[in-house]
Amino acid sequence: MLLKLCYYDNPILRTQCKPIQEITDEIRQLAADMIETMDAHNGIGLASPQVGKSLCMFVMRQDEYDEENNLILGEPLIFINPKLSNPGKNEIILPEGCLSIPGLHIDVARPDTIFVQALDLEGNQVEKEFTDYTARVIMHENDHLNGVLFVDRISTESKTNIQPILKQIKEKFLKIK
Ligand code: ZN
Repeated sequence: MLLKLCYYDNPILRTQCKPIQEITDEIRQLAADMIETMDAHNGIGLASPQVGKSLCMFVMRQDEYDEENNLILGEPLIFINPKLSNPGKNEIILPEGCLSIPGLHIDVARPDTIFVQALDLEGNQVEKEFTDYTARVIMHENDHLNGVLFVDRISTESKTNIQPILKQIKEKFLKIK
């Protein structure tokens, strides 16, 4: 089932999410619906607060390449109650976007690697280091669980520059909040 997205300035995007106590059928359904919603909007990551649920879970797809170097999206990954640690020492600057802030793509500096401990949908503890764009998506989505948006992680100058765009987004999506 497609879920309704929450857009910039919706207070749920600024709320600290709650850990998931038990992986119930409801949680499994939410994960499936989030993957469907992410794919429908051509996203590569989606966190629960973006669909109105203040729970510590996000879904994503890794970018992979076929033999001819065409981008293909990998199997969906689901992270429940993630804990991030040991960020890499090198910072990389690349443009990011967000389904909750449509139309805005702006450079964000993030570490090149990140270590993640999380539960999968079967309740198994997963511990793994991620690199490159996957690491970036994980850090972006994990930020959502703490009420942080990528527009918080840019320079003061960029923040000033994007104010008109944020204002437009607020006005455009006010009706469907
Ligand atoms: Zn986002």
